[in-house]
Formats: sequence, C-alpha cells, structure tokens
Amino acid sequence: MERRGILFIMIDGMGSLPVRDGKTEWEITKTPNLDALAKRGVYGLMNPIGPGITPGSDTSHLNIFGYDPHIYYPGRGPLEALGAGIKLMEGDVAFRANLATVNRNMVVVDRRAGRIESADAARIAKSIERIEIDGLEFTFTHTVEHRGVVVVRGKGITASVGDTDPHEEGREVVQPEITAENERMARAIGKYTIEVYKRLSKHKLNKGRKLPANVVLLRGAGMYREVETFQKRFGMSACCIAGGALYKGIGRYIGMDVINVKGATATFDTDLAAKARAALKCLEKYDFVFLHIKAMDSQGHDGNVEKRIEMIKRIDRMVGMLADTKAVIVVTGDHSTPPTKRMHSFEPVPILISNVEARGYGINKFCEVECAWGELGTINGSAVVPMLLAYAGRTEKYGT
Ligand code: ZN
Ligand code: ZN
Repeated sequence: MERRGILFIMIDGMGSLPVRDGKTEWEITKTPNLDALAKRGVYGLMNPIGPGITPGSDTSHLNIFGYDPHIYYPGRGPLEALGAGIKLMEGDVAFRANLATVNRNMVVVDRRAGRIESADAARIAKSIERIEIDGLEFTFTHTVEHRGVVVVRGKGITASVGDTDPHEEGREVVQPEITAENERMARAIGKYTIEVYKRLSKHKLNKGRKLPANVVLLRGAGMYREVETFQKRFGMSACCIAGGALYKGIGRYIGMDVINVKGATATFDTDLAAKARAALKCLEKYDFVFLHIKAMDSQGHDGNVEKRIEMIKRIDRMVGMLADTKAVIVVTGDHSTPPTKRMHSFEPVPILISNVEARGYGINKFCEVECAWGELGTINGSAVVPMLLAYAGRTEKYGT
C-alpha cells in the first residue's frame, strides 16, 4: 500500500451542545464540502483525553498527537515560550507573564497595565530584558500587548512554584509559598518582582501613563524537558500551521517545523484561504501537516452563536480548497466549547478521516449527532495517530 501524507485540520473548541431548536451550530449550518468529505471517509466521536475529562487545549493536543499529557505536559509556560520563538534549554523554567499596574502596596490595580500597546510595552520591557537574582538569570521576552514570557535559568530551580499573579484586581501580588523543595526559586522570584517594580517605576515611558506598566505577574510555571520528536516517534516529518503562539509552541515542543503564514492571526479575521494554500504546499514536503483554527473556541468562550456559525461556513469553504489533495484528511477538534456554557466541556467531538476506503455508513451531514453513528464509534484521542498511520498505509502487519 502506498504511504500517504496526512492533513490534520484541528478546529479548536469545535464541539457544541444544542443552541437552537435542539440543534448544534454544526447541525444547522450548511457544510457541503465537509459532508462530501464525510461521504468518502470514516467518522465517529472522540474523547480528546478520556471520557468525562474536560480538556485544556494544550493537554488535548499533546494526547491527540501521541504524547500522553500525564507524562509529557510541561506546563503552559514552556509551550508559550516555544511559541514565542524562545530557544529553551533543558531544565529552564518558563512562565507566562503580564505587564500590569500595582500601587505602592503591591496591590494590582490593572492586570493589563491599561491595555498597553505593543510598541510601548516592547520599549518598557527592554529595561527588564535580563535580570540576575542570586545567581539565577531571569529573562523577559515581550510578545503582544501586555503579554510576555519569563524564563528562569540556573542551578537548583524548580517549577513547583505558584503564580505571583493574583488573577484578580484589588488583590496583592502573591508571594510564592516557600517549601523545602523550592526555597531558592521562591525567594528569587520574590526578589525579582521587587527588582522589576523598581526598574519599571523609574521608566520614562511610565511617567506619562495613568496606569503604568510597573510590575510583571507570573503564572503557569513549567520546566522544559526535551521530548522525542514526532518524526522519530511516528516516522513522519511534520509541520504546524497556526496563528496562536500556544499552538506553535506545541508544534515546536514535539519537533514540528512551524510555518508562519501571513494573515494567520488565531482570531475571527484569520485568513483561512492563506492557511489552506500553505497547507497544500507543505503537503509536497511534509508527511504530516497540522493546521490549527482557533476562532471557534474563542467565539464559544464569548457565547457568540452567530460568529461560530459564520466560522463553520468559512471552514467549509476552506475545506473545499483542500478536497483535491491525495493526502488523508482529518477534521476534528481538541474539545467542545459550547457557547451555552462559554467554557470547555467534556462532551466528545466529531472526528472525520477522509480520502480513505470506507464501508459507508450513509452520513448526510457532518455534525456531532450523525458522526455518533459512524464506524469509528467513540474513540480516545490517544488512538488517533495509530489509526492515521494505518489509514495512510504506514503500518506493518502485527504477527504472521
Ligand atoms: Zn482548545
Ligand atoms: Zn478555549
């Protein structure tokens, strides 16, 4: 059997619950291209991590790509750092970081420093680019608006430190709790926060600001460890097309090449046609192309049914551009984000594997309900890559 490429379309937060007349957005929106794919493929439902587990996007992607998150999840910090293009070294601890505003008593007044603009934040961040505390090196890398990443490098550090971000305005910056295990790290973080406050308070750009960016709040600590690459593990060269930093980070973490596409923004205005063109090009070079679409999830969090319906229409048009490829096409999601709940939920998501020989279970519409009757049944996210290897002609017989 000929070994084929795989195009993996991940629609973040695709799954839903009834939003109108007992039907989900997928049931009430016309999707001729996806329906056609389903008719020449196999389909079912998938529990991204396991039955009854509400997935985070990061843990879910890892599980679906064959990396059990209970073993391989490094925490959000390192994934964001990798997504921002930061080169991490084994044993580095990375945090997500916010430039924020505190008063003299270190009480958070604004978690986003008055929604500071990227250009100003980047200039302010220069003054805290690299700070050494007790022999540990803290680097701050600005990403967009008030956001950034802090990486700590040095001997004897640990990721078992809580957030300094109180996650609420009107509360004090949190002093990390000191334990026998984390003493060196926790003390250094306390000193770092004060040093940052001193430097930023003096910054001339902050003088004119009603809400100065005068502190860095840390969250999501994680230690970076190198993992076996996707190529080594599954024998497929792989690349990642995504707008959001987290998804680029996940790709980099497992050794995928990150392809930057102009107009891929991870927002509602993302250029899906540009992503589709990039994916087709990548299929000439890579065995496995991961194409991520973020906006369905964001609109689910906002409870915006209309925008989710609009995204489904656009995704269907994008699929129309891709349908002629010889590769195996997968369409699924990393979890449900029903707009009625405005948060991730545990309900399984549809999964479709197309351009393969199928028995044909007579699907009419690609949606949660009809996929439940498909030949895949309800599978676990960890089963996806092994199945794709089989459908793409990349497995050997087991036994004789
Ligand atoms: Zn997600
Ligand atoms: Zn989400």
